[in-house]
Amino acid sequence: MSVEVSRRKFLQGSVALSVAGASAISATNLFSSEHASNKHQSTDSRIPNTITTKTGTGEALEVATLCEMCVNKCAALARVENGVITKLNPNPMFPKSKNMLCPRGNAGIQAAYDPDRLKYPMIRIGEKGKGQFKRVTWDEAYDAILNGTDKFPGLAKILEEEKDNRSSMLFCAGEGMAEHTFKQFYQAFGSSNWLNHASLCLQTVVSGYGVTLGTYPQSDLDNAEYIIMAGANRAEAIVTPDTMDCFKRTKGRGAKLVCVDPRFTNTAAKADKWLAIKPGTDLAFVLALTYVVITEDLYNKEYVANYFNGFEDYKNSVISNKYTPEWAEKITGIRAKDIYAVAREFMAHAPKAIYYPGRRSTFAMNDFQLRRAQAIFQALGGGIDTKGGLIFGKKLKLGKHEGLEPLYARSEARAVSKKDHPKKGESGYDDCAIVSGGGSWIGWRNRFLEDRMPYKVRGMFCYKHNPMMNMPNTAKTAQMLKKMDLVVTIDTMPSDTVMYADVVLPECTYLERTDPVKTFGGVEPSIAVRNKVIDPLFETKPVREILRGLTEKISKPLFEITKKYDEDVQDELEDSDESEVYAEFDLTLPFEGTQEEVNHHMVASVYGEEAAHKLAKDGVFYPDMDKFYKEVGANEHQYYPEKEKAYSVRGGKPKTPSGKVECNIKNLAKKGVDPMPVWRDEYNFTVEDGKFRLLTGRHAQFTQSGTANNSMLHDLIMTNYIWINQRVADKKGIKFGDMVEVSSKTGSTRLKAYPTEKIGPDTLFFIHGFGEESSELTWAYKNGGNDNAVIEDAIEPVYGAAAMHETNVEIRKV
Ligand code: SF4
Repeated sequence: MSVEVSRRKFLQGSVALSVAGASAISATNLFSSEHASNKHQSTDSRIPNTITTKTGTGEALEVATLCEMCVNKCAALARVENGVITKLNPNPMFPKSKNMLCPRGNAGIQAAYDPDRLKYPMIRIGEKGKGQFKRVTWDEAYDAILNGTDKFPGLAKILEEEKDNRSSMLFCAGEGMAEHTFKQFYQAFGSSNWLNHASLCLQTVVSGYGVTLGTYPQSDLDNAEYIIMAGANRAEAIVTPDTMDCFKRTKGRGAKLVCVDPRFTNTAAKADKWLAIKPGTDLAFVLALTYVVITEDLYNKEYVANYFNGFEDYKNSVISNKYTPEWAEKITGIRAKDIYAVAREFMAHAPKAIYYPGRRSTFAMNDFQLRRAQAIFQALGGGIDTKGGLIFGKKLKLGKHEGLEPLYARSEARAVSKKDHPKKGESGYDDCAIVSGGGSWIGWRNRFLEDRMPYKVRGMFCYKHNPMMNMPNTAKTAQMLKKMDLVVTIDTMPSDTVMYADVVLPECTYLERTDPVKTFGGVEPSIAVRNKVIDPLFETKPVREILRGLTEKISKPLFEITKKYDEDVQDELEDSDESEVYAEFDLTLPFEGTQEEVNHHMVASVYGEEAAHKLAKDGVFYPDMDKFYKEVGANEHQYYPEKEKAYSVRGGKPKTPSGKVECNIKNLAKKGVDPMPVWRDEYNFTVEDGKFRLLTGRHAQFTQSGTANNSMLHDLIMTNYIWINQRVADKKGIKFGDMVEVSSKTGSTRLKAYPTEKIGPDTLFFIHGFGEESSELTWAYKNGGNDNAVIEDAIEPVYGAAAMHETNVEIRKV
């Protein structure tokens, strides 16, 4: 989403804002009352279709929306009877979700009707972390954030004491369509400290592909003939339409699937070949594949000649380091002959061959280099920006809307800690070489706890994010939250993190709000919107309205503090009216107007009024949709005719600034990072006697801790079990269902055992998202084991991501 910034001053060290165009649209134009009231009538997001229903006896309304039960954002049609959502059906019009709503998506109803959800604003009255709150009005909650209570200080005190250093407040957010809205608050507030989920999630894969190919591409599984799926468990971890493509269409028409995983997963069961690899050694596997392809001259010479930078350097490195399959066999545990076979088969099918980039978290310390090596290997076959390979796709434009990014003279730059005297070739930061937009959560937390901050950070705003459950070393995260003077959480559920809040602001669920309109790029690009299905229940509100109320309360009082300490503002006040100066610091500005009005404007300004109406009604829009979209078979739809699909948008040219695949990035060396992917001895898989490497992962019926309390999903997966090799379990006298304790230097957790031959003797596995400690969660409370209570805080060295598979643990029957 692009944003116009009304005041062209940027905070040093703040997260880069996407700024499109040179001229700002004034807020007055965008939200003038005449304009807005006209639009308001015509942009009711609930333009329902009247349908008959099987659930009740009468008519029902049908509202187009988007699922938020995981990151995929499939399109849904919600059936509403007498104001109650009785069913969620798939919306066939959305190319991304192809008439599919998975079991988790169906269970979205329970998100709205969960009896445990947050219902009212609350403020803390007991000891921090004990979850003792009292119900208050919205105004009282906003007042507590501004002025504090006898239990905690408010923003006014904190900013007064920190002399208007806006960076004394941290802002963090989980993934979601309204993350953008919350980020507007962060930018207007003027802090430089932003942390999002990236460093606990896709940071290294996005960055590894980003610096090598210029983007994190999508996979055209529909047309691929050969797929290597390594460390991605699509048959089990996330069942989206892509998954269906892979296992129904792709496999159905005879494409080959190679699964590389330490565990025999459901994906391995469906694959043509399963290669059991030692954890953290995928990089050696890819380097050996590359060795075969280079030494046997199997690569696409034309593509390499046109679109590679530094190929000769990389070739020499791979050959001189002797990354042979025989070398890799000793490291990975995969037989050399299998590595030869996979390399040859992949190139025989290239460019319709995919080394699947994966959507998973960072697992190993070498993850960034692994992703670089994967991207280069893929490009050696020429399968870039082409049918059946990795694709860039097209993205449909959206209009712009108003943002605010004032400059506060006293606001400090981002709280990273630089090494005092970095040696040549060493990273400039304590925790990692490169500080990305989303930051290093784990590095930031540890610096804060160890008093290694360049200035005091006193509090945080936390939106739709549960760092207590989602970040390794839960005990340290609890310490961090306790040490914060002011913690404000905006959430739908009383999560473990909410238990540590001083002020709790209850957001409504995704079925009760309209979110910022979103454009979805790909082979078949489209725009889709999450429409409000029912009005918010209890006293909950959408985050946009929450922030409007909060900023109305805090904007002027905080400006008074700015006036006291900000010399620039004092100078401006000498020459201008205070109202003019204040307009540039008016925190309420980004939240004027309704989300429906903003969405309407962003679509109508590019595609016209009719398109905006169509989007609000159908939930999906793309130009020529009326002409292109049709049902072509049982559960088969055409979104674009074949010749209109954006398989190739750049003729194969990478999106890097050079237009080349970057094999040897010298700038990385300046930051102490290997400029080319190489293997280092410290990457070898080692586990001491009597210990096990702990692996974690996802399940298709659970989205991390976000769905842990959903009782409908508990019908599908009650709890998590720890996978332990059958023979090891026999030796230890552990049987199925026995309670075991898993422990590391970080902490311990308990869960039931699942002895199996599907995992090796030196490895354990269990699913993330279970074992919450919030007693307000009926279904999730102490249900199963919490992986992050045990996972140590290993910080991946390039972007500071949390490396989730670097912890060795002990296990005992209890
Ligand atoms: S994959 Fe399932 S949970 Fe995820 S967005 Fe789609 S329907 Fe919702």
